Amino acid sequence: MSARKIDGKAAAAAVREAVAGHVSAFAQRLGRPPGLATVLVGEDPASAVYVRMKNRATAEAGMAGFAHNLPAATSEADLLQLVTDLNADERVDGILVQLPLPAQIDATRVIETIEPGKDVDGFHPMNAGRLATGLPSLVPCTPFGCLHLLKAELGTLAGLDAVVIGRSNIVGKPMAQLLIGESATVTVAHSKTQDLPAVCRRADLLFAAVGRAEMIKGDWVRPGATVIDVGINRIPGTGGKSRIVGDVAYAEAAERAGAITPVPGGVGPMTIACLLVNTVRAACAAHGLPAPRV
Ligand code: NAP
Repeated sequence: MSARKIDGKAAAAAVREAVAGHVSAFAQRLGRPPGLATVLVGEDPASAVYVRMKNRATAEAGMAGFAHNLPAATSEADLLQLVTDLNADERVDGILVQLPLPAQIDATRVIETIEPGKDVDGFHPMNAGRLATGLPSLVPCTPFGCLHLLKAELGTLAGLDAVVIGRSNIVGKPMAQLLIGESATVTVAHSKTQDLPAVCRRADLLFAAVGRAEMIKGDWVRPGATVIDVGINRIPGTGGKSRIVGDVAYAEAAERAGAITPVPGGVGPMTIACLLVNTVRAACAAHGLPAPRV
């Protein structure tokens, strides 16, 4: 069997087009577009690339962007003050503080300072708790994007066996919550899980969010399963260059899967598209408007 490649780029383009429509409707009604503030502290090259892509996507969707690039030596107090100012800024509907932060700053304290209604990353404990209890919330962008791809691929997920490898607050745990909400039967695996290959072979839906290049081998994949690869790993390529691979050994997994996301071009583009969805939803919620459907 050769798996269907799930085209995250095309799915993300469709979401971004829909968002642009909602942005323009919001702007007509409110006299200003939804606004997203991004905060980058330091010069980590990967973080800088991600934030640039997010700022570009914000502008392309017709939203207002407020980019704050702070030096690596920024104190926690100064960053908390900026977040507090953005909370109060009526032009700003969403706030994204790019992680990781320099060692002198406690990321938890920063996340907890963001107004939950502007927490477009969905990391605030209020949003995590609302997601866990099945209440409407701002959902972390990567799992939100994965769910979108899955539902487009499969329709209903009810009764399917899902295995999520990874239990981080930003990917694994919210992914599991979303899948429970869709009535899948969910197993969350992590570094202490015993016989991970056998656990994976049970999965109708297999999610890899580990951060280890090509760790999930082809024979871990149940024939016909849908595989969503969240991993982004840089490995040495040819000619002294590097290349990006996922957590799944793509070629061998594609021999057995029914459908699979590539890396790059799978989950990554959806993460940014879902950030835009969250921003327009946050803007609408703040003004008592119904949540736009995307
Ligand atoms: P993380 O916080 O480092 O969490 C990794 C998880 O993998 C942990 O729960 C860890 O288990 C588990 N793990 C590590 N080694 C394992 C092993 N040998 N067997 C089973 N589980 C193992 O990472 P993250 O932030 O969730 O990100 C995961 C990956 O997704 C990274 O490659 C990251 O770059 C990528 N990512 C991509 C996007 C996107 O837009 N595509 C967005 C976010 C993240 P323990 O909890 O037991 O330590």
